[in-house]
Amino acid sequence: MEFMIQLVARQGETDPVTTELVRFERGELSMDTFGLALVEAKTLLSRLQLAMTQLQIDAHVQRARTCRCGRKRPLKDIRTLPMRTAFGKLDVRDPRLHACRCDSNAEGARVLSPVRARLAQRVTPDLLHLETRWASLVSFGVTRDLLEDVLPIGEHINAATIRNDVMGDRGQVGTRTRRGSPFRLHHGL
Ligand SMILES: [Zn+2]
Repeated sequence: MEFMIQLVARQGETDPVTTELVRFERGELSMDTFGLALVEAKTLLSRLQLAMTQLQIDAHVQRARTCRCGRKRPLKDIRTLPMRTAFGKLDVRDPRLHACRCDSNAEGARVLSPVRARLAQRVTPDLLHLETRWASLVSFGVTRDLLEDVLPIGEHINAATIRNDVMGDRGQVGTRTRRGSPFRLHHGL
């Protein structure tokens, strides 16, 4: 049996856009072929995340290209924005636009980055929550291993990344021991 998993996205009344995410083959029913395997789930989640975010970025940039006055904001260049999510590390398309005269009058900005303006952090809140929670219980290295076991993100981060995320998030709240074991997080903070 062949399983095809697709993402169907629709914005407003436009025609739906279908993106094939993954295909799984299954032979005769057995313990090994029963349902979704963990490695397949991770592949599926990472492809779903990539497809979803690309569609979101494209739609947002398309809207941002047109100023409220109706003029098109010319494209200056396209950069990439590294984003870490619970379902994979992404290099998000980050186009920069020349500001319209209206923008310049209002804010003095000559170049706009509509994606960067919306995605101010490089780590999504749910991944940061997991990193913070698990690093309060076990070491940063074990936190990384736990993430890799269950989510398609572990191979893209290391203990130092997690430490930076968590300490950046919590500022001076935690204290670390001399041996570098995870610092304590105080419940309720
Ligand atoms: Zn304008």
